[in-house]
Amino acid sequence: MIGFHTTLTYDLMKSIFGSLRHSPVTAKQLAARQTSRLQCLLRYAYRYSPYYRMLFEQRGLHPSDIRTTADLTRLPILERHVARERMDELISTEVNPRLLLPRTTSGSSGAPFPFPETALELFASNLFWARCYMDCGYQPLSRQVKIVLPSQIRERRRAWERFGLFRRIYLDATLSPDEKIERLRKLEPALLVAWGNILDEIGWRLEDTNSHLDIPGVCSTASALWPDTRRRVEQRMGARVFDLYGAVETGPAAWECGHHEGFHVHSDLVVVEIVDDEGRPARHGRLVCTVLWRRSLPLIRYAIGDTGEWADGSDQGCNLPYPVLRALTGRETESVRLPNGIRVSPFTLRNALYERSPDRPGQLTYKPGIKQFQMVQETPSDFRLRIVPGSEFTPEVERSVLDAFHRQFGGAIRLRVVRVERIASPPGVKFSPMISLEYIERMKARGVETDVFTRAP
Ligand SMILES: [Zn+2]
Repeated sequence: MIGFHTTLTYDLMKSIFGSLRHSPVTAKQLAARQTSRLQCLLRYAYRYSPYYRMLFEQRGLHPSDIRTTADLTRLPILERHVARERMDELISTEVNPRLLLPRTTSGSSGAPFPFPETALELFASNLFWARCYMDCGYQPLSRQVKIVLPSQIRERRRAWERFGLFRRIYLDATLSPDEKIERLRKLEPALLVAWGNILDEIGWRLEDTNSHLDIPGVCSTASALWPDTRRRVEQRMGARVFDLYGAVETGPAAWECGHHEGFHVHSDLVVVEIVDDEGRPARHGRLVCTVLWRRSLPLIRYAIGDTGEWADGSDQGCNLPYPVLRALTGRETESVRLPNGIRVSPFTLRNALYERSPDRPGQLTYKPGIKQFQMVQETPSDFRLRIVPGSEFTPEVERSVLDAFHRQFGGAIRLRVVRVERIASPPGVKFSPMISLEYIERMKARGVETDVFTRAP
């Protein structure tokens, strides 16, 4: 066990220094950088990750057999649940486990996923996101507000924030739309970063109350940004809206350059493949990501859980060599309309699932024994919470969820809890932790069998 993670540090510093700007300007330069980073990652995974060493050996492969991204298909796809179950074998043996920071994914899959990384990787990921925001016109000295789950709010300031650089203020995603608007009005950020469904919630509320905010730049992340939401946010906040695509696991993966439809892939940081149900390269299908800069938990051909489609390569309206995804269709977490007409984000609705963290004072965490959950809107005012319970999900915990929900909504909407062994999704449909009435209608229109959402339990 090496304390300094020599190889990881060396690899990562190279990525950091090489990625401060979107420097490759020609497709050839970009491909060369991508290939060298890919080979570096594969060598690392082969040497330090027992899981990948086994995969290579089972197939009689050596990292040097995979020369370009096209050769990646010689390795299998890493499904999300496999990554979770075999985490111990995936993690690099170079890394001292005590130095790994646990980071939780946003739980958009309905199962929070503790994701380990080193402090340097966290730093790199922040830096890559900052590069991404700067591409959207954000300046290092301007004020940024990010709306996140209570469990993701960071109390301590980063070193550079003490010098006024990349200052970020966090807002709690579970606040009501009115509270969010009130706080934003006071904070006057130059850039607002939030999930698409939170923007939807705020946009609707501004429209319903015929009010405005003045925020020059808005970056939408994580959940789908519907054209309707974008228009409302542009009108009501006076903002230029950029949709960004990425996840805790991948860091920033794709961004809108603002000159045309679609998303450029940050292909010097992440290799994105699209595959069909049989795992063959396809024009549209599942997104599979190879994260070129991560080392402590190498992710090679990781199925992120979203779907997408490549643009057809006709006029892009810009000269950037980064490949363009036309659509990202999997991100279907959305806001929910309540009987009083107000739209709330699913994060506001799931507030009752949290409690104060016993070991991280001031932070919130999921209540004990919640392994996975899904909230289904049965009527405008009735919600069913499906829970896959662990042994710690006692009747007292269930009671506390119901009480917290009642305190929050005062009986205007009702919740009941059902315990289930597993939560199914219709074939080909991404799991969503929030099934609203509108979502069910949209699925029906797509010809999807929606029984699995509506039938008991
Ligand atoms: Zn472009």
